[in-house]
Amino acid sequence: MDCGVPFCQSEVGCPVDNLIPEWNDLVYRGRWKDALERLHQTNNFPEFTGRVCPAPCEGACVLGITDPPVTIKNIENSIVDRGFAEGWIQPQPPPHRTGKTVAVVGSGPAGLAAAAQLNRAGHQVTVYERDDRIGGLLMYGIPPMKLEKELVERRVTLLLEEGVRFVVNTHVGVDLDSRQLLSQNDAVLLACGATQPRDLPIVRRELSGIHFAMEFLLKSTKSFLDSKFQDHKYISAKDRDVIVIGGGDTGTDCIGTALRHECRSLVNFELLAQPPDERSPDNPWPQWPLVYRVDYGHAESAALFGKDPREYGIVSKEFVGDGKGRVKGVKTVRVEWTKGNDGTVNMREVSGTEEEWGADLIFLAMGFLGPEQTLVTQLGLETDKRSNFKAEFGRYATAVEGVFAAGDCRRGQSLVVWAIREGREAAREIDRYLMGSTHLP
Ligand SMILES: Cc1cc2nc3c(=O)[nH]c(=O)nc-3n(C[C@H](O)[C@H](O)[C@H](O)COP(=O)(O)OP(=O)(O)OC[C@H]3O[C@@H](n4cnc5c(N)ncnc54)[C@H](O)[C@@H]3O)c2cc1C
Ligand code: SF4
Repeated sequence: MDCGVPFCQSEVGCPVDNLIPEWNDLVYRGRWKDALERLHQTNNFPEFTGRVCPAPCEGACVLGITDPPVTIKNIENSIVDRGFAEGWIQPQPPPHRTGKTVAVVGSGPAGLAAAAQLNRAGHQVTVYERDDRIGGLLMYGIPPMKLEKELVERRVTLLLEEGVRFVVNTHVGVDLDSRQLLSQNDAVLLACGATQPRDLPIVRRELSGIHFAMEFLLKSTKSFLDSKFQDHKYISAKDRDVIVIGGGDTGTDCIGTALRHECRSLVNFELLAQPPDERSPDNPWPQWPLVYRVDYGHAESAALFGKDPREYGIVSKEFVGDGKGRVKGVKTVRVEWTKGNDGTVNMREVSGTEEEWGADLIFLAMGFLGPEQTLVTQLGLETDKRSNFKAEFGRYATAVEGVFAAGDCRRGQSLVVWAIREGREAAREIDRYLMGSTHLP
């Protein structure tokens, strides 16, 4: 490794501070088991990040200044896959128990990473999940073709064998009073995710056939896992003309899922303009490159229909109904983006660009507006300006004694790797709170 300063580990690089040059070198020398040990020092779940992380490390890679960057994510994935294949990854229950109990609300990557770390420190951890399976968006958001659910279950089994307890089908705040949970435990970590979808309140939004992306993705995965789609408890895109409104990961996953259902046609609207092919001058290395990318859903759609499904700079104005309460299309107009001298970005609708698109199934994938607010009222939590649970980054303590928050419910919609980082750090702060000091990293 001849990078000088490894910017993959800088603040714009890997959020969990993976020891990338070290494990790259160990792999180069054939010392895979040592590489795995180094990788697990900073990342509890490299088999997830190795598959779904957008890899900000590669955007910051020194080699990326002149050449394609090192394929860090693939190396990470290879190390952990080899570790499982060789049987090197075994449950490691803690040598002693502290007698303290911690309840974790939500079983996404933040909750699971925190549970793994707190259990390692000897605390008895119980993870509460309202869905019927553990994993949060790892299980019921990111679709199976991108992250196989057996891999999530494999990690959950390891955690079980290490002594973490899991309670599913339990909605804290509804089925179980959160104040009761707090009084029965020494600490509570909220890792509930940012689950409130952003709506599109335009004319005829009430028509049937218009769904939030997560309803489509969750039901599709659940039906697939429960019965290989035989129970028909999902929104089928088969032979449908589908429009996905909103780019981003969620939009791409709707595209990939609709294609697997064998939709008839597919279009994806993106409000913003198409990004440039190369970094722009105000987006220099080692920042995350804001460039045009082709994700799996776009490539698959282009292969099937002969055209990238994305339409950039387009805004939806109203839905069109078929007269029987079902959606049959959407009216749009193109927009132009300009940057003012003061740096403000302005959007302008371009007259004469009005269009009507046919669709009998529309998915809204326009991001999320923070966590649901039931626990805010019940526990008396404070929220920030974006309605996230208020807890300082790095400390994770809310204003309520013994209650901590981490992951998307604290920072807003983000990434798996950030959820893992926050879960790990929150565990450290909870351990410090419970024991007075901490040895957790
Ligand atoms: C469709 C989609 C695709 C994505 N793809 C990627 C990707 O490819 N790469 C990437 O890095 N990131 C991706 N993300 C983002 C990533 O999944 C999230 O940032 C991450 O999962 C957040 O982790 P978390 O633990 O904070 O919350 P979540 O994963 O959202 O988990 C929160 C869990 O808490 C449960 N819960 C909430 N409230 C309660 C309650 N009161 N009682 C009990 N349980 C409760 C929820 O049911 C959920 O299971 C994607 C997001 C979506 C929506
Ligand atoms: S977790 Fe993500 S950012 Fe970190 S090394 Fe892996 S791919 Fe890169």
